[in-house]
Amino acid sequence: MPFRSNFPDIDVKKIGIYQFITSNPYGIDDDKVIFIDGLTDKKLTFGQLKANSKKLAFGLKNEIKFKRGDVLVIYSPNHIDYPVVIYGTIAAGGIVSPANPKYTSEELASQLIDCGASVIISHPSCLKEAIKAADAANIHKSKIFLFDENEISGFQPFLSLFSDQEIKPEEYTPEEAKSTTAYLCYSSGTSGRSKGVEITHFNMTSNLMQMDVFEDQINHKSILIGSHPFFHIYGLTFLINFIIMKGASCVIINFELDLFCRIIQDYKVDIAPIVPPIILLLVNNPIARNYNFESLKLVISSAAPLSRQLRKRFVEIYKTPIKQGYGLTETTPFAIMSKTDNIVEDSIGILVPNVECKIVSNDKDKKELGHNEPGELYIRGPNIMKGYLNNKEATSECIDSDGWFHTGDLGKVDLQGNFFFIDRLNDLISYKKHQIAPSELESVLLEHSSIEESAVIGIHSEEQETEYPLAYVKLERNKIQSDQLKEEIKNFVSQRVAAHKKLRYIHFIDEIPKNSPGKSLRRLLKERAKNEFSI
Ligand code: AMP
Repeated sequence: MPFRSNFPDIDVKKIGIYQFITSNPYGIDDDKVIFIDGLTDKKLTFGQLKANSKKLAFGLKNEIKFKRGDVLVIYSPNHIDYPVVIYGTIAAGGIVSPANPKYTSEELASQLIDCGASVIISHPSCLKEAIKAADAANIHKSKIFLFDENEISGFQPFLSLFSDQEIKPEEYTPEEAKSTTAYLCYSSGTSGRSKGVEITHFNMTSNLMQMDVFEDQINHKSILIGSHPFFHIYGLTFLINFIIMKGASCVIINFELDLFCRIIQDYKVDIAPIVPPIILLLVNNPIARNYNFESLKLVISSAAPLSRQLRKRFVEIYKTPIKQGYGLTETTPFAIMSKTDNIVEDSIGILVPNVECKIVSNDKDKKELGHNEPGELYIRGPNIMKGYLNNKEATSECIDSDGWFHTGDLGKVDLQGNFFFIDRLNDLISYKKHQIAPSELESVLLEHSSIEESAVIGIHSEEQETEYPLAYVKLERNKIQSDQLKEEIKNFVSQRVAAHKKLRYIHFIDEIPKNSPGKSLRRLLKERAKNEFSI
């Protein structure tokens, strides 16, 4: 029997996401400030968001003939006008495809071509790459607009599309809401080529309502820091859509440690939805101690594993609880979340309403497992994506005929329904007949006083026909690399894990490579290890 959410099912609204948000479930006043630019203090109220998105929708439809189903790509770091462009596009009946602003022109071009984009809204700092990519994707220059007040080299600000004429935002029948894509998110690509994840209107309304059951402490008085990238699903769903639905306020920045800390202090931020690498910085970097974090009531950690040690150190220093949320771009994203009033050590949380989970053995039998037995998490529910764009094969590889989405993550659940993340299946190290989860070793390494951060991978030995665990280790500032320290670290780990899990190799590194939502790129380290080691 699958595991079901402890919560009773909720009746998810089957309407367009624009109608859902503007139906204003929490009765937000039009003059309520929802977004604040952390650098300039410019504000955007709920009323302005609705009015501006309608003005943009009119311009998109009438000035550049943007139609229902057309795709607009946003290529920008976090920006106060990001939500206006999202809702303008949706009101015009379009699909928003947010792109990673760190993409090269080639990467952007491949997204533009794959999703068949017809319009690009680019930040001025990304314009050069946007032009090259648009050229490669055959998008005319006149369809590139800027997040800026002014024209730059003939490129118009997106505000030039604004029109004061009335427009009725596109509406969707319940069937259409379930089948129509609203967002096309390119998943971060920690494994393999990134694919366009089709998130429907219904997927988004579902996840907002599912999360709402967990987030009753977020209300119109809450002030959140919006530092997580908006192009990533965690930013898009939580920091844009959920904030608007709840009528909370989000102070928008692009992450820099000093700025992040100053915003928490000056705006009296009470909730910080962030990722483990940022928690690590807050713990390790003395700059953070120069600021007053007294207002901070809750940290939400998602998108990557949070080790027990890191959580403990953060809570000790900042006296602020950390709870976790778990999910994937393909699950819009939150399938599992902790309850703020019941944070269970190491757990990623419990199932959100309307979600079922099967835990399946990681072998050819694919046996359904019970409590406390580790296996692959399969998830089913209204927040599961429609599929990968133009890629039936990849879709059917991960969503089976019974509607179960195979996450590729190894996890387990206890008798109370608390879930625990173990690791990505692809990253497991196959040592003889054992499987070793790199996250477990990384968590132990973090307990060593000389180590700031690490990433563990498996390195293949042709001769022995097995993989050995290798740790890339970033030392704390002022610690000196030496063979003696390597031996000491190996011993430290050996004393804390079962014999078969002991670390075979250690390599010092200046920085652990990460993608911009904050995941260690073990894939890159594996490539690097192939060149650096022969065993
Ligand atoms: P993305 O689609 O970029 O959001 O990546 C999804 C992946 O992030 C999942 O498959 C997990 O491997 C990882 N992830 C998300 N939330 C957590 C969490 N709370 N703990 C550990 N890993 C997580």
